[in-house]
Amino acid sequence: MPRTIHIIGAGLAGLAAAVALSKRGTAKRGERIAVHEATGFAGGRCRSYHDVALDMMIDNGNHLLLSGNHAALSFLRDIGAEQRLPMPSAAAFDFIDLASRERWTLRMNKGRLPWWIFDSGRRVPGTRARDYLKLARLLFPPAGKPIGEVIACAGPLYARLVEPLLLAALNIAPPLGSAKLAGAVIRETLAAGGAACRPLIARDGLGTTLIEPALAVMAQNGTPVRLGHQLHALRFSDDRVAALDFGSDSITLEPDDAVILAVPPYTATALVPDLKAPTEFRAIVNAHFRIAPPAGQPTILGVLNGTTEWIFAFPGRLSVTISAGDRLIDTPRESLARTIWEEVKAATGLTAELPPWQIVRERRATFAATPAQDARRPGPATRWRNLVLAGDWTDTGLPATIEGAIRSGNRAAKLVAHC
Ligand SMILES: Cc1cc2nc3c(=O)[nH]c(=O)nc-3n(C[C@H](O)[C@H](O)[C@H](O)COP(=O)(O)OP(=O)(O)OC[C@H]3O[C@@H](n4cnc5c(N)ncnc54)[C@H](O)[C@@H]3O)c2cc1C
Repeated sequence: MPRTIHIIGAGLAGLAAAVALSKRGTAKRGERIAVHEATGFAGGRCRSYHDVALDMMIDNGNHLLLSGNHAALSFLRDIGAEQRLPMPSAAAFDFIDLASRERWTLRMNKGRLPWWIFDSGRRVPGTRARDYLKLARLLFPPAGKPIGEVIACAGPLYARLVEPLLLAALNIAPPLGSAKLAGAVIRETLAAGGAACRPLIARDGLGTTLIEPALAVMAQNGTPVRLGHQLHALRFSDDRVAALDFGSDSITLEPDDAVILAVPPYTATALVPDLKAPTEFRAIVNAHFRIAPPAGQPTILGVLNGTTEWIFAFPGRLSVTISAGDRLIDTPRESLARTIWEEVKAATGLTAELPPWQIVRERRATFAATPAQDARRPGPATRWRNLVLAGDWTDTGLPATIEGAIRSGNRAAKLVAHC
């Protein structure tokens, strides 16, 4: 009887685990992989769908990767989709300050030695080279501290670079965010030089870039995803999971079978007794407008002093991202769309009246990246010998990101080999 590894959840963590296992030649070793997904689609929080209001395919939210996200890039290579995420030649980020109407482009040099901070034409206007050196405190911060206790969250460098970067990466007001997680982000991006900071955007959508190619590779390797197959309960016996209860059906596990649980934390805690996991979350709000971006519009534009934080340009669409958007959850949709559209007009020079729009509010987009919530993240191993955890909320050392989700899936795949 071949051993079966059951993966619960077809978000990026679950898909990465499935791809990593099949890459290791699972089938040759007489192993089978079975993926069970509760909803009717794979991708979880990183997905594309046809939006009726816009009558076009959109992503649930704009997702930014950076060229230093090595696990994500390796995943893309494994699924044959590397070319779907175009690699810009340099790490350049355009910004506009809506209050002063100033525009600038941050241009990092490629190598680790950050000579761009000594060049006033490349660094953030209004900052001095020595301001950047103070960020070194975040590289290896004291344990358990919020960012606000490690660096001064004030001044032009903070307002024009550190705040937008850390707000986007941690999805929380930076002063409250974990300095440890910020340190990991800075070590792997800013401190690693421009070569690690080139922005990568799925121009043709998250689905065609990250999800569909993964499903195709898995199907080729005999690993289909069973959609609409929600796990209702794990049945335990002594030190192992003995059965998977899907409500209408159940699967009895053989002694060598194993389970990778790659579901969100609020589901995992309902399935696994006494599991400590993050309990607080932050929202991300996206506004999508069906309109052609003006000529020369950068693929991603940072916006300061507005509700809008980032404007992404896609073919036939402009999309806005607002992190830690909990304050906007109850704002009436149309008034939010109008506010954001006025800012998009100011930032892009477009003059059209409100085009067809959609607001997507993901309430539990990520766990709240505070030191206290970070301390609740479990590692992959559990007290059951054939149960391994994966997901962006497990203790990856990174905030809740695609990179973290994929690393957690890879880690679970390795661990399950020894179950
Ligand atoms: C709007 C938004 C914008 C974002 N922007 C970025 C960004 O710019 N850059 C970045 O790196 N990251 C970004 N992220 C974060 C990124 O999307 C996540 O970190 C990543 O997708 C998490 O993947 P996951 O597999 O850990 O979890 P999920 O995607 O949540 O996957 C869990 C899966 O488990 C399934 N499931 C749940 N319960 C069950 C059950 N009982 N049985 C079977 N299946 C079940 C779910 O349906 C889901 O498919 C963003 C997230 C959002 C929401």
